[in-house]
Amino acid sequence: MKLTYEPVIGLEIHGELLTNSKMFCSCSADYGSAPEPNTLICPTCTGLPGAMPVVNKKAVELATLVGLALNCSINPHNTFARKNYYYPDLPKGYQISQYELPIASKGYLDVLDDTDAQQRITVRRVHIEEDTAKLAHEKNYALVDFNRAGVPLLEIVSEPDMRTVEAALSYATKIRAILRYLGVNSGDMEKGVLRFEANISVRPMGSSEFRTRTEIKNLNSFRALTRASAYEIERQIKVYESGGTIVQETLGWDDVRGVTVSQRGKEDAHDYRYFPEPDLPPLQLSSAWIESIRTQLPELPEAKTKRFITDFELTPSDARFLTSEKSLANFFESVVTKSKSPAKTVHSWIAGEFMRYLNDSGLSIEDVTLPPESFAKLIDMVTEKTVSGNNAKVVLADLLKNGGDPQEIVRAKNLAQVSDEGFVQEIVSKILNDNPKEVDEYNAGKETLFQWFMGQVARATKGKADPNVAKELMVKGLAERKK
Ligand code: ADP
Ligand code: MG
Ligand code: ZN
Repeated sequence: MKLTYEPVIGLEIHGELLTNSKMFCSCSADYGSAPEPNTLICPTCTGLPGAMPVVNKKAVELATLVGLALNCSINPHNTFARKNYYYPDLPKGYQISQYELPIASKGYLDVLDDTDAQQRITVRRVHIEEDTAKLAHEKNYALVDFNRAGVPLLEIVSEPDMRTVEAALSYATKIRAILRYLGVNSGDMEKGVLRFEANISVRPMGSSEFRTRTEIKNLNSFRALTRASAYEIERQIKVYESGGTIVQETLGWDDVRGVTVSQRGKEDAHDYRYFPEPDLPPLQLSSAWIESIRTQLPELPEAKTKRFITDFELTPSDARFLTSEKSLANFFESVVTKSKSPAKTVHSWIAGEFMRYLNDSGLSIEDVTLPPESFAKLIDMVTEKTVSGNNAKVVLADLLKNGGDPQEIVRAKNLAQVSDEGFVQEIVSKILNDNPKEVDEYNAGKETLFQWFMGQVARATKGKADPNVAKELMVKGLAERKK
């Protein structure tokens, strides 16, 4: 009998924190803007003997903010630890991290699985550490750039609670959105500031035991996370079905070949010989301080989605789309509050024409200078039928490019919609009189010709005739000519 397998997935997410300086020294953390490699460095972040680390207060604040946003308890007493291993991108021979007492633990996040059902994922811990240097591999040698070494890094570790790739993707997407809402991380995965590691095992459906897992390192996009997890699940199932066993190991993802590749046998915690960092005192966070950070929490995507559903009567999926980015949600809210049209209509304009413009132009919403009032006014003109939907798209494109007033543009381009029956009737009659053959064919049963007639109206009026009025008159005119 063939067994069915259930995937078990736990995610480790690394995100750099957007601070001015590095985690333990005053070097700039903005290594992306460094003019040259190895220019943002000092004895501390290059691991010279005798250099002493000092904790970056801002990083502690941001880490606390993330812990609170993920519903964790903040540990008022937490400590730094040395994680010992040697690698050329790790100048000290150890990474300062947090081990036994992380800054935050035991939180949760609600995600959607493959059937869109809500599921609660436990966040095991959130801890502070430092990023490594960057290696550039040349043909026969490698170069090391220490500008990134010591940049504040946050690690968010989930329990192995996810049972589908969709749930893992939903969890990762939500974490990214939250980090961006909080302004602690840009979410720019191409730049490597946010990276995922997927821990994966499979077990017979119905079993409650966890089996040996593998860990896929350095997944730098949602696509890589999805593909690598799906591949690894299938691979493990095949191994079990052919009677083999899975060994605990660290894997890499080969995006070109679409396969996971073994990198090394997975080390256990004891291999790192963690011990308390002797150069740093424990962090003591008073409850008053923690509460003051809590007051800085903005409205998060989850809460915003719920509010959009109730306040604007949007569907959950429309609300989720609009709240996926804070800037998008803010833009929607300022347009919708200035518009007299239904929120659903405003959503359609933003999700449709406006997003298309952003995609086509490669701009982000922050680059858009269109005042929400103008957009609201234009949408209302469509609702009030003073301009047709199609012509409003032309006006919107002009507004986005050149700014201005929608009413002015409509006037200048002569795009106002005409609902005046006398005017539309004249055009409809002319079209019907000029095309007797088509009229007969239509009346003999070729109903598809109706769209053609409407097309003639649009052409003759440059899209300005109110389509409802035109349709009504057209139906009437055709019926009158029925023999
Ligand atoms: P380590 O500390 O060695 O990295 P942990 O047990 O702390 O190992 O887990 C690291 C990650 O692996 C966590 O995200 C956890 O949810 C996940 N994980 C642990 N066991 C399994 C398993 N059997 N299958 C899938 N994921 C797992
Ligand atoms: Mg790990
Ligand atoms: Zn430094």
